[in-house]
Amino acid sequence: MLKIENLHVNINENEILKGLDLEVKPGEVHAIMGTNGAGKSTLVKTISAHYDCNVTDGNITYKNKDLLELDVSERANEGIFMSFQSPVEVPGVNNSYFLRTAINEKRAYNGEDEIDTMEFLKLTKEETAKFNIDRKLLQRDLNDGFSGGEKKRNELIQLLMLKPDLILLDEIDSGLDVDAIKIVANVINSMLDGKRSIIMITHYDRLLELIKPDFVHIINDGKIAKTGDYSLALELDEKGYEAIGIKDESN
Ligand code: ADP
Ligand code: MG
Ligand code: MG
Repeated sequence: MLKIENLHVNINENEILKGLDLEVKPGEVHAIMGTNGAGKSTLVKTISAHYDCNVTDGNITYKNKDLLELDVSERANEGIFMSFQSPVEVPGVNNSYFLRTAINEKRAYNGEDEIDTMEFLKLTKEETAKFNIDRKLLQRDLNDGFSGGEKKRNELIQLLMLKPDLILLDEIDSGLDVDAIKIVANVINSMLDGKRSIIMITHYDRLLELIKPDFVHIINDGKIAKTGDYSLALELDEKGYEAIGIKDESN
């Protein structure tokens, strides 16, 4: 699915990622952890082609294609979905219209017909009801005046409707209450079909406990410093970074 080799990324002339390697196979869930400022967001922003991130060396292969050759919309149309730490508010753009446009762009890119309006309505109704998400969010403008929790719920609607192949979650659980975290976990778990892959950044044990990643990686000094299974997240939660040999660069 995704192979990252020797990735070097600069932000504003500062080297943030310094030769990072990561391989994600179909169906796998990878959790990325690390101290504040370690470069976790930089990694997923680079995969989704965020303009801040300047790749200076290395390769990323996605579905056997050179990912770095694809622009931001091509990456989305190829099935990469990124949930942002702080989604932008877009007043004046109806949320439902935005989502339907995104679905249709992806369909057109892949040579499929546009989604029928009735089918779109039926699907949004079904999916939101299944997970107890307020469908009224779709009638508002995109993220406009949405609370933190509403923005995250809206990203879940996007996930359910766009059905991406590679899902990048940047602290989707931050600021959410326990019930909302359960909804996030239910949606994510429902999407795990053995083919779809997930890279999730989180500090919180609760989401990991509900999703149970196959791999846990810790980024330090611009590279993957440690890789383990779910037990590494538990160890980290119990002992902290220093005890497992990771220097906190944010201090
Ligand atoms: P994390 O997500 O692990 O907390 P980030 O990837 O957001 O870390 O940031 C890594 C480093 O890059 C930090 O030192 C941060 O200050 C810096 N950085 C991130 N975004 C920018 C930006 N737009 N301009 C300048 N520096 C940035
Ligand atoms: Mg941070
Ligand atoms: Mg971050």
